[in-house]
Amino acid sequence: MKITRNILLNPGPATTSDSVKLAQVVPDICPREAEFGSMVDWIQTQLVTFASCDNVTTGDEHNVCVLMGGSGTAAVESVISSVIAPNSALLVVNNGAYATRIIKIAKIYNIPVVEFESPHNSAIDYNKLEQCIITAKKELHSDGIHLSHLAAIHHETTSGILNDSHCLGSLCNAHGIEFILDAMSSYGAMSIDMNKDGIHYLVSSSNKNIQGMAGVGIIICNRQSLETTKDIPKRNLYLNLYEQYEYFLNTKQFRFTPPVQTLYALKQAVDETLAEGIENRYARYQESYRTMRKGMEEMGFCVLVDEKNSSGFITTFFDPQDMKYNFDTMHDFFMKKGFTIYPGKVSKANTFRIANIGQINKDDMLVFLNAMKEYLIEYQIKI
Ligand SMILES: *Cc1c(COP(=O)(O)O)cnc(C)c1O
Repeated sequence: MKITRNILLNPGPATTSDSVKLAQVVPDICPREAEFGSMVDWIQTQLVTFASCDNVTTGDEHNVCVLMGGSGTAAVESVISSVIAPNSALLVVNNGAYATRIIKIAKIYNIPVVEFESPHNSAIDYNKLEQCIITAKKELHSDGIHLSHLAAIHHETTSGILNDSHCLGSLCNAHGIEFILDAMSSYGAMSIDMNKDGIHYLVSSSNKNIQGMAGVGIIICNRQSLETTKDIPKRNLYLNLYEQYEYFLNTKQFRFTPPVQTLYALKQAVDETLAEGIENRYARYQESYRTMRKGMEEMGFCVLVDEKNSSGFITTFFDPQDMKYNFDTMHDFFMKKGFTIYPGKVSKANTFRIANIGQINKDDMLVFLNAMKEYLIEYQIKI
């Protein structure tokens, strides 16, 4: 079968290999069969190794992976709604739209939430954050509420900024709070060690740097922490994290129908991640990034986040000032050439984003840069 290769430069879902796409074509199977359960068990075990140095062969595992049918947001909602006890509060480090989304989730579940606002294009001020934690703890305490968790985004996909999970984890550790990290668009393409960084819950999904199909949320939990959430009154049914964990542990089945074919694709994507290696994937992404950023800057485009704070996975560019520029026209021009690009998502500036995640490389970026030159000439756009 010949599948047209589209190059997704939007920030997820990412471009996948043909072998991942084709892995979905399997005989029908009931996901309650043991064979399916074993496959899921294997996927979960491997996914843990991408986020820690846990030794899976000796069974020396501090962390456990829970999969949940749904997009990445479902996985984030699962954690936020399941791990914070009554009379406990969440502090959210907010430097972009995905952190704002976590605040929204907490509010819907009536979880007390404290917001620490940080600029969307420069590094978090960790001293200020520490002050915020201390003040919040005191204030909440006088209301009988315990600040138990901090949530942050690792790679804020809206801007391309990479937050420092080690600094965040150290602060959490120093103040006795658990650390929830939305690592949706960093996990799979950079080494993360949950044990070293003191991450209690790490959230990602099947369709970003793991390079699988959309539809499965990935939650990697510190097993001890997860066990302590057993008796928290359930705020929902489908998304309850402990129940999902316990049910799979006991039955090797999902509680509810999982996205069966997406899981076959995820199995293949995990195989391909193991074959490439996280370090090599990181190097491939960085090479694409450097090629793309350099080419764009040579054409005159300006970048929102400086090199030092950039993830190298997604880059936000300011729109050209030219009146003739129009994002939709540019989008359609690129679409015809097989590239999908996406508008910006930062509130205060007109921007667009170029992602370099997924099964793409530097050569694709060179083709993209040529297409950008053609676009600027054809529509006579000055930057
Ligand atoms: C993609 C993404 C999500 C989840 O988005 P979905 O559309 O639900 O998959 C959450 N957080 C971050 C940082 C993301 O990049």
